[in-house]
Amino acid sequence: MKQITEFETIPLGVLPTPMYKLENLSRELGKNIYIKRDDMTGVGLGGNKVRKLEFLLAEAKAQGADVILTAGGPQSNHAMLTAACAARLGMEAILILKKRGTLTGGNLILDGIFGASVRMVDTDSYEDVYAEMERLSAQLRSQGRTPYSIPVGGSVPVGCLGYVNCAREIANQADELGVRLDAVVSAVGSGGTYAGLTLGAKLFLPGTRSVGVGVCDDPFEEISLELMRETARLLDCDIQPCAEDIHIHYHTGPGYAIPSSGGCAAVRRLARAEGILADPVYTGKALAGFFELLEQGAFDQDEDILFVHTGGAGALFAVDLPAED
Ligand SMILES: *Cc1c(COP(=O)(O)O)cnc(C)c1O
Repeated sequence: MKQITEFETIPLGVLPTPMYKLENLSRELGKNIYIKRDDMTGVGLGGNKVRKLEFLLAEAKAQGADVILTAGGPQSNHAMLTAACAARLGMEAILILKKRGTLTGGNLILDGIFGASVRMVDTDSYEDVYAEMERLSAQLRSQGRTPYSIPVGGSVPVGCLGYVNCAREIANQADELGVRLDAVVSAVGSGGTYAGLTLGAKLFLPGTRSVGVGVCDDPFEEISLELMRETARLLDCDIQPCAEDIHIHYHTGPGYAIPSSGGCAAVRRLARAEGILADPVYTGKALAGFFELLEQGAFDQDEDILFVHTGGAGALFAVDLPAED
């Protein structure tokens, strides 16, 4: 097996991020609940994409790239963080965004502050977004530039390495805290974070199950298994990812990036219990899904459970939370 340290990275984040017990929420729910603060990765408003970008942008640099292209929804946290990281490395960023959903405020403001150019594609399909990314990429090449394209969410094996590494970081911090984690819970949006964490758990947290909460209706069982297999191949490790490693519960609500009442209640609950901001698109829904699983008895009484907070606060300034019930 290759060590992750053999892969080139560019240190962009402030790592390790904090990990600690949520005392109030643990008391309220009668479980030991810990949090991994990947909303505090130290770039932009923080979030999970920074760990992926440390690997992806290192690959871009090794290929001599001078302009980074990526795709996403109009409020993409991944696009915003790509803009921030590219700016820091002196690379131009072009964000090709699918014109649907909230088109003002939030991350779109930040994209501009970080100096990225934003191209809106008026479509409902990522095929059109990728076609535009391909077209721009060819155009840049013909102008003598060296573009590097990152797909939605950075969910390719090189990006997943960031979360394999995060699992190792979690294992070290769990040791320091003296806890043996029974489960790690994370949001699933394009699958890379969950795939990386699940593979990383097999490597560094044996006996810990990785639970994902899907925030859209894509078939994440297959997507994450495939990403785990490709990432294991990249790492040249003898671990064989299998369907039994994957535990996905869905909390999509009315649709991707449309607030659900459970998700909004979870945002308010975490904020009021712990002073921590979740978001209505990813982490609020992930928490809502986690609370549903708790209610269904999916966790034993004395289990130690880690919630990986993947960021997303920018959406709070773009999406209206419906009034409280
Ligand atoms: C992108 C994102 C996720 C989902 O991560 P994937 O690797 O795309 O599955 C979760 N939370 C936030 C805040 C995100 O921006």
